[in-house]
Amino acid sequence: MSNSSAVTRIAILGSTGSVGRSTLEVVSRHPERFQVRALTANRSVDLLREQAGRHGARSVVVADPESFRTLDPRPSGWNGGREALLEIVRDPDIDVVVNALVGFAGLEPTLEALRAGKRVALANKESLVAGGDLVMAAREEGGGELVPVDSEHSAILQCMNGGERRTVSRLLLTASGGPFRGWDASRLGSVRPGDALKHPTWSMGAKISIDSATLANKALEVIEAHVLYRIPYESIDVVVHPQSVIHSMVEFIDGSVMAQMGFPTMELPILYALSFPERLDDRSLRTFDAVRSSPLTFESIDHAAFPMFGVGTDAGRKGGLAPAIFNAANEIAVEAFLTERIGFPAMAEAVHDAIEGLVGTSDDPISLVGVQESDREARRFVHDWISRHDS
Ligand code: NDP
Repeated sequence: MSNSSAVTRIAILGSTGSVGRSTLEVVSRHPERFQVRALTANRSVDLLREQAGRHGARSVVVADPESFRTLDPRPSGWNGGREALLEIVRDPDIDVVVNALVGFAGLEPTLEALRAGKRVALANKESLVAGGDLVMAAREEGGGELVPVDSEHSAILQCMNGGERRTVSRLLLTASGGPFRGWDASRLGSVRPGDALKHPTWSMGAKISIDSATLANKALEVIEAHVLYRIPYESIDVVVHPQSVIHSMVEFIDGSVMAQMGFPTMELPILYALSFPERLDDRSLRTFDAVRSSPLTFESIDHAAFPMFGVGTDAGRKGGLAPAIFNAANEIAVEAFLTERIGFPAMAEAVHDAIEGLVGTSDDPISLVGVQESDREARRFVHDWISRHDS
């Protein structure tokens, strides 16, 4: 980290969301180590105001221009719009940018923060999926650091400390299986948004909750692991582990397998992303109890009931702009499901059709403009797909 002082100065992008709020909990327990400098939200101005006051943030950004315009009174240090968000991540007074934005909106802030040489504690997996090569290039260019907040990828990072990277033979990502684990395809036809939002082991924002229910989230995570750790797709496996106690595993070339465990809470991977490679003393989290967490069980993914997993990982294997198309198509499909314009199974159908219809239309090298164009095309495609299937 590029910080000469003992205190790490933090910007939290998306502080009003699920990961953002957990990050504030974690940093407020370690005032001697972390100081909140900047907070951002899209539209939740009341919560943002309360957070800024409580944590003494000097800079605050409301990303949605309309919500910023209607702010009355407008406190000093507050700014609005996307450019203001990007200015925060470039601010020389910030050491760590926690990117807890949801969706494609997180890509540019990730790129800018890495170019500015910051540590990015990355929850926004969509950044890595849509623009993996761009993100890694920005890291090289600016000398920034990328530390995952996603619990599976944090687990992999922690397990990798058990051996050199060249001795890793396989990653085993765990999946809770979501609220519909064990359901067959025919039953999933009648699922409503309220059912899908009830996750059995994690409490999260709406988009990732739906992604967990379809297993789009696990496909996003496979791509994220491939990009972050440069492990080929054929060496990344996923296993369903309903208790969410083992957060992922790494297998080494001698057959030894390291697993990282703990009761499910995002506060642990958030703390690790902020303190890495150090571990901080934090006893406020629930003490692990092996007996109470037993039994630990494992199952295979049911590909017939959850086709979104295969659709997403195929897009990852195709590479190029396919992951960006998968990501954008999925975002629109999730939105349409949440507003009850399409049913649960239609999400995977729409995303599949978008990838089939759009991949291969451009062989240009990946650029931010190219990724943004693919993102827009995929959104348009799925909007049209939904209109056709509405009528
Ligand atoms: P939430 O929906 O709870 O929060 C999203 C945050 O981003 C909010 O602060 C929201 O502001 C802000 N935001 C939304 N859209 C925009 C935009 N277009 N421009 C700027 N800011 C925006 O999401 P989560 O916290 O659940 O997830 C955040 C990220 O972390 C996702 O990528 C998710 O996949 C990942 N993640 C989440 C986990 C979890 O436990 N929740 C676990 C692992 C990864 P506002 O409140 O105003 O809408």
